[in-house]
Amino acid sequence: MSDKLQIALAPGDGIGPEITRACMHIFQAAGVLDMVEFNEVEMGQSVFAKGETRGMTDEAVEAIEGTGILYKGPMGTPIGGGGKSINVTLRKTFGAFANLRHFQSLPGVETVYSQAGVPVDFYVVRENVEDTYGGIEHRLTPDSYAAKRLITTPGCDQINRFAFETAKNFGIDKVTCGHKANIMKMTDGTFLDRFRFLSQDYPDIETEDVIIDALCMNLVLRPDRYKMIVLTNLQGDIVSDLAAGLVGGLGFAPSANIGDQISIFEAVHGTAPDIAGQDLANPTSLLLSGLIMLRHIGLRKTAAEIENSLLYTLESGVHTGDVKGKGDPVGTTAFAQAVAENLGKTPSTVSGCTVPGGDMLCHTPPTRPSVNEMMVTHEQVKSEIVGCDIFLETVLTPLDLAARLQRICEGTPFRLTVISNRGTQVWPSGSPYTEIVNNCCVRFELLERSTIGQGPTVHLLAKVAEKFSVTEFIPIKMYDGQRGYSLAQGQ
Ligand code: NAD
Repeated sequence: MSDKLQIALAPGDGIGPEITRACMHIFQAAGVLDMVEFNEVEMGQSVFAKGETRGMTDEAVEAIEGTGILYKGPMGTPIGGGGKSINVTLRKTFGAFANLRHFQSLPGVETVYSQAGVPVDFYVVRENVEDTYGGIEHRLTPDSYAAKRLITTPGCDQINRFAFETAKNFGIDKVTCGHKANIMKMTDGTFLDRFRFLSQDYPDIETEDVIIDALCMNLVLRPDRYKMIVLTNLQGDIVSDLAAGLVGGLGFAPSANIGDQISIFEAVHGTAPDIAGQDLANPTSLLLSGLIMLRHIGLRKTAAEIENSLLYTLESGVHTGDVKGKGDPVGTTAFAQAVAENLGKTPSTVSGCTVPGGDMLCHTPPTRPSVNEMMVTHEQVKSEIVGCDIFLETVLTPLDLAARLQRICEGTPFRLTVISNRGTQVWPSGSPYTEIVNNCCVRFELLERSTIGQGPTVHLLAKVAEKFSVTEFIPIKMYDGQRGYSLAQGQ
């Protein structure tokens, strides 16, 4: 094997091979290929077509694990048939927990903000693994469905720490936490608490937090207020695309998925089947993602030179057909050729990148762990069971349901304390205007505080299950004396 740094390369589907070729042409001209060797791996539609539902071959997995870096073009997700999104699978399988995207106004790319003279230049750091992206969903009754939104303290710590570290490395002096902790007090509340807790280690970085809906409005009104925003997975997904819209669309929004060992650099747009194979695609997103990759492996000088050349090229009016710019558009190949020829030039209407003195390759390939790493934050927390929530499929009225459940729990250490429906209390008090569905949550709590194991709650569950169809069962607990469960609305 050569002594160059090895990177796994998956050109992808649709326009993927064209834009990958374009980026390789620019890398060749900039001297990247003298230091780095790209090894092509098989991934995407051709692999799905062979019945491999992961969408990647064992050889591809081995190559990614061997190098620790994957540079990839867009890949199609099969619709139906059990194949999951390969992009999500890759991030989760290889522990690439942080999605980093940079949104900046580019010269020659007209947007409402560029026309108004409002500069856009900020990063979004999105948690990549947890939240609803676990894809853990169940149909609980014929009418009700649930998706599990899992947020963990180690997951929050990883992503918040990553945001602060990246801000420090990039010289960014303000980080904003976006959340919905006013409604989801435990999940988003934890995300916000850990953001505040970790911020203490970064006294030079200004912090603020903002509720996600207000953040979206502020981003549209005053995008120049933000420098870096850290978010949970689903909220981060939505905000990232909103932010892409501020700078001209997904074609200009690079994306990196960074893990402790393995990182993935990719274009965020799709395979664009409508223009595939026609030399029309814009390679800018994949190129900008490649520049984050070059900086990640220490080629900061080369990355800055290519970025300046790209800015100069766009500024001089050379653009592909998807860009609202002046003059006739050029094809993918001609655009890449222009960027390659403009190496060494810098833009004049926007500030270009400062080119550091030299490159210093600094990537170490991962060492394969022998077991999965267990991440634990709270090791000494005392937890005690105080009851249980049982979800039931029933069409009984809350009053009738309560009467039957009270009979069932006679002689047990529990009493029925509340019945809620879609999160709103409907017994012991409630409003007849609250519409209900046939999936009720009934909460039993200990008559007297005592230390019980989970056995009595399971015994109670068995008694309830003799009479009702159970859809979910969750023991409720106190953690160091703090309630580990939410109250119903109206409770
Ligand atoms: P898309 O991003 O492929 O296309 C949307 C529109 O944007 C199309 O009109 C397309 O021509 C245009 N477009 C996209 N990228 C462009 C580029 N670089 N240059 C010029 N124009 C560009 O979205 P879609 O049509 O919803 O999805 C097509 C396929 O891509 C689906 O199979 C989807 O699952 C997949 N996809 C993959 C990724 C990824 O790999 N990261 C992301 C999104 C969608």
